[in-house]
Amino acid sequence: MEHMTNVQYIVLHHSGINSSKLREIEHFQSIQNTLHLKYGSQFVLQYHHVVGHLGTLFKGQPEGEVCPHVGYDQYENDIHNWNALGVCCMGNFEEEFMKPVQYESLIKLLRGLKIKYSIPNFRILRHNTIIPTLCPGVHYPYNEIMNSITEKPWYSEAVEFCLQKGIMTGDEDGFRPDDPVLRAELASVLYRMYTLDEIRR
Ligand SMILES: [Zn+2]
Repeated sequence: MEHMTNVQYIVLHHSGINSSKLREIEHFQSIQNTLHLKYGSQFVLQYHHVVGHLGTLFKGQPEGEVCPHVGYDQYENDIHNWNALGVCCMGNFEEEFMKPVQYESLIKLLRGLKIKYSIPNFRILRHNTIIPTLCPGVHYPYNEIMNSITEKPWYSEAVEFCLQKGIMTGDEDGFRPDDPVLRAELASVLYRMYTLDEIRR
């Protein structure tokens, strides 16, 4: 296991398998099997996150650990494996279009990752802009995605403030702005606010 230097980019992929061929879980296993055939089991997966065609989010390689999702660029440089998270959508977008349910899940995931790692849109790249590959396919809705995540969501100022001041913390899945809060978590937030000098004053 090798640790990433610094998460600065997100690279977008497709699985290249038509979504009509496999159920989500089989699709995930098929991606995993292909990797394990090539590299043995040293990596959990070649992507950090996989978005199913029904919108299910699958975790692959833990964030912060390197996995070989990009390959070598024209300069024989594998730097993006070291500083980029790989996000893969199940499907073959050379021959099919992304369904709204998958799109929505992807947007949620990307918004969370953008906040967690402070990644601007220009550091969210399609695989085929780094190396010659069809991935993520001609029908991959890159421009729409960029538009959807360009606008700061309504809560972003509050979230950034809370993260910056340490009032709330994300976990390994990021901030997860759409998830509910436990009473214990709310108590921790109130406690931190009360004990934070700057806010108490
Ligand atoms: Zn790819």
